Amino acid sequence: MAERARMMQRAGEILETDKQSLGQMMTAEMGKPIKAAIAEAEKCAWVCRYYAENAQQHLADHIVETTAKKSYVHFQPLGPVLAVMPWNFPFWQVFRFAAPALMAGNVGLLKHASNVPQCALTIEDIFARAGFPQGVFQTLLIGSDAVEGILNDRRVVAATLTGSEPAGRSVAAAAGKQIKKTVLELGGSDPFIVMPSANLDEAVTTAVKARTINNGQSCIAAKRFIVAAEIYDEFERRFVEDMRGLKIGDPMEESTDIGPLATPQIVNDLDEQVKKAVASGARVLTGGKKIDRAGNFYEPTVLVDVDINAPVSCEEIFGPVAMLFRASDINEAIRIANATQFGLGSSAWTNDANEQAQFIEELEAGSVFINGMVASDPRLPFGGVKNSGYGRELADFGIREFVNIKTVWIGGNTDNADNTE
Ligand code: NAP
Repeated sequence: MAERARMMQRAGEILETDKQSLGQMMTAEMGKPIKAAIAEAEKCAWVCRYYAENAQQHLADHIVETTAKKSYVHFQPLGPVLAVMPWNFPFWQVFRFAAPALMAGNVGLLKHASNVPQCALTIEDIFARAGFPQGVFQTLLIGSDAVEGILNDRRVVAATLTGSEPAGRSVAAAAGKQIKKTVLELGGSDPFIVMPSANLDEAVTTAVKARTINNGQSCIAAKRFIVAAEIYDEFERRFVEDMRGLKIGDPMEESTDIGPLATPQIVNDLDEQVKKAVASGARVLTGGKKIDRAGNFYEPTVLVDVDINAPVSCEEIFGPVAMLFRASDINEAIRIANATQFGLGSSAWTNDANEQAQFIEELEAGSVFINGMVASDPRLPFGGVKNSGYGRELADFGIREFVNIKTVWIGGNTDNADNTE
């Protein structure tokens, strides 16, 4: 473990040292603004350091008092784990799997999204340069049709997938046939709720950031903004104004807020979703169409009058398109927030302690952020409920997903040992 920790620290140092060139590679491959890409490399360095420093404690034997002379829980690696990963955070998604998996003693096999092959190969190279033996982390340049065959290989013991719901269903089904464990981090349609006691300046600024981060292509981007009736008009006015003020342009320029979406397909899908929403009664307050310039650009868009049961409200919207809803009180806000098949993150803005407690209790999501934007942090578990998946990444919960949680019972007094299972 100590040796692995040294190598993981080294991987973190490489990410930190090379963050400019790594950021440029991410931006060139999938279009995220360069500032965000460099920050992503820094965050990967953080998760490497975090697990280098904490894995030993997370996986230490856990003594449990029983009738045995000694009984405890002992954690052991499982073996090679397949990671099927998306392009939207092409480094972060991989490192948040790989840092704990490798520190636990597993082998990582990466099947990255097909549009980010350079990132995929570079990540393999970073682990090699950090000193991990050849094969401990391998990138497989394969298409999604090859995944089932890999899961059928008896040497591969488990899989994790971060991606869309259909991909999750497919990988979980293939792994299930082989009785192999999966962790699924799937889509989201996160609510962002603003109540009258909230600091409106902060809420509006954060709302715009939460919707447009990564050009709007984030699983935990806030997608549905649910605002109390008393402050709705003011929130709407300011939110639309700020969305209009975003700087769209070359993602390699430091001042750019919104760059191109990753592929032409994503722009077309987004455009279809908006058109369908408008056809079924939604109004466009700003944006609402592709931008007529080279690249996959889409206007920052705000929709209102969306039926909460309309497809656009229930599906995931992967791009800079926000929907605003008016709620008469907290109960209606929670009802709208929970009216989705997804349950990844949620953000609620209020300075009322009772309302905070109600949001924490009643929002159906893997996380509740009060007066803050949903974000991952190596120290806190990350994951979803409902169709957003299952299992957790990060923190102690994440590193214990791909280990054998082995019960050890050492006799002496065997009085209780003949219990049934
Ligand atoms: P995607 O199309 O599902 O692809 C994700 C990965 O799965 C890619 O490597 C893809 O390979 C592979 N894949 C797709 N269909 C597959 C299948 N039937 N069998 C095996 N592998 C398959 O998703 P994406 O467009 O890259 O990413 C966006 C999605 O990821 C969004 O839904 C987003 O919310 C979700 N996401 C979730 C989280 C989270 O933590 N919950 C984080 C980030 C993103 P190919 O590229 O070769 O098709």
